Amino acid sequence: MNSKVLLMLQLQNQLNDATNGEEWVKGITKNKKVINWRRCIYMECAEMIDSFPWKHWKNIEVEPDWNNLQIEVVDVWHFIMSLAIENYSQTLRGVVEDVANDISELASFAQIETLATEFADQNSVIEKVENIMRIALAKEKLDLEGLVSEFFDLVVMSGLNLDTLYRLYVGKNILNQFRQDHGYKDGSYIKVWDGEEDNVVMKRIWEEGGELTPEKLYHELTKQYLALTKKSE
Ligand code: MG
Ligand code: MG
Repeated sequence: MNSKVLLMLQLQNQLNDATNGEEWVKGITKNKKVINWRRCIYMECAEMIDSFPWKHWKNIEVEPDWNNLQIEVVDVWHFIMSLAIENYSQTLRGVVEDVANDISELASFAQIETLATEFADQNSVIEKVENIMRIALAKEKLDLEGLVSEFFDLVVMSGLNLDTLYRLYVGKNILNQFRQDHGYKDGSYIKVWDGEEDNVVMKRIWEEGGELTPEKLYHELTKQYLALTKKSE
């Protein structure tokens, strides 16, 4: 089993427990709201398509926003992992470790272990995204393997690989957890740290910190945040 895949699934599971309550795998939040991961997926896919100048009535000379596409790919990965964990739970296929194991064994997984050197042609990226939407919107039983395989194709086409997906995903996950733990919901959280947005600070720590673990990233954020809040007292 791939350890990065396992870690990402574990982090997503924790984040869902914390934000939606531990019964989230039953498809309902602690506030009794219905969870629809498939909808989350296709809505996020629409955001991906908006990274391209697809609107025929607008200036077609604009370059695709590949940076934004990569961010949306990471966003959709949150929801695909959540859907996979929910599906395994509901169909009694197993827990997070079983999902990680099966995902690591998919034929399409092997391709994301090497770094793609260039972006795919924008029309084929859009087609790939629409395949993902089609699977998410299908009325039949969920084709989870198909969905994950199409997603891994998209990872490569977007110029990402397992390492970069892992970095972007873990960074965002830890920052989300950090915000939740420091008053994001009640509005007391400070988003701009000494003139820089928290996600910029996180990105710098995470990218320049060498072989950081998610725990160390969290710890480093805490250190800098405490220094900041002390200064403003
Ligand atoms: Mg969104
Ligand atoms: Mg998004």
